[in-house]
Amino acid sequence: MKLILLGAPGAGKGTVAKMLTALDGSVQISTGDILRGAVKEGTELGKQAEAFMKAGDLVPDDLIMGIMEERLQQDDCASGFLLDGFPRTIPQAQALQALLEKIGVKLDAAVNLDVPREVILDRLTTRRTCSNSDCQEIYNVKSKPTQVEGVCDKCDSPVIQRDDETEEAISKRLDTYNEKTAPLASFYRDAGLILDVNATSSDAVVDAIKTQIGM
Ligand code: ADP
Ligand code: ZN
Repeated sequence: MKLILLGAPGAGKGTVAKMLTALDGSVQISTGDILRGAVKEGTELGKQAEAFMKAGDLVPDDLIMGIMEERLQQDDCASGFLLDGFPRTIPQAQALQALLEKIGVKLDAAVNLDVPREVILDRLTTRRTCSNSDCQEIYNVKSKPTQVEGVCDKCDSPVIQRDDETEEAISKRLDTYNEKTAPLASFYRDAGLILDVNATSSDAVVDAIKTQIGM
């Protein structure tokens, strides 16, 4: 399947993407994971992106399009992809449309994950992430704690609160989302691709997507 996952930070895009990859081997492409990996490794991309990310601001569109132009043409995307955290602005959505046309790929849907703001705030402040850039497993101190406190179940690396998950940065990210990313729902509605789902339960989201694409 070829999907865009839209929704505020904390709406569960990453969780839903992981559940969907298990269904048909489509790959999850998270621009946030790619960027955090680049920052950790200290690459040129990482150096350019770091300050924006730490402040809860968006990374400039041209950097993101450089990453995605390369990523979407890799072989593993042929059987399907789940775009998690991209596109994030109207210019990115327009550039993506041009890129997909160029490489002859058609999207199945843009799934809009809708979650109340209180739920989002609660999820983000209690979220913890594995610090190993090759793992980045997500935990939650309330709903999905690690077996040993502070240690990743999968790779034994320290599990941390992300720099952009302080209350101040979270509130900034939500404002940025409302201003820059929320308008994408209308963009994809006009394109006839939107699938609106209530995302309080990730299982229900996956079921709605399966029905939509006839699985
Ligand atoms: P979230 O948990 O908010 O969904 P992500 O892991 O997707 O966060 O992204 C973390 C940060 O990486 C964002 O706050 C932003 O700085 C940057 N980022 C990720 N994807 C994009 C994108 N498509 N465009 C611009 N910036 C991005
Ligand atoms: Zn880990």
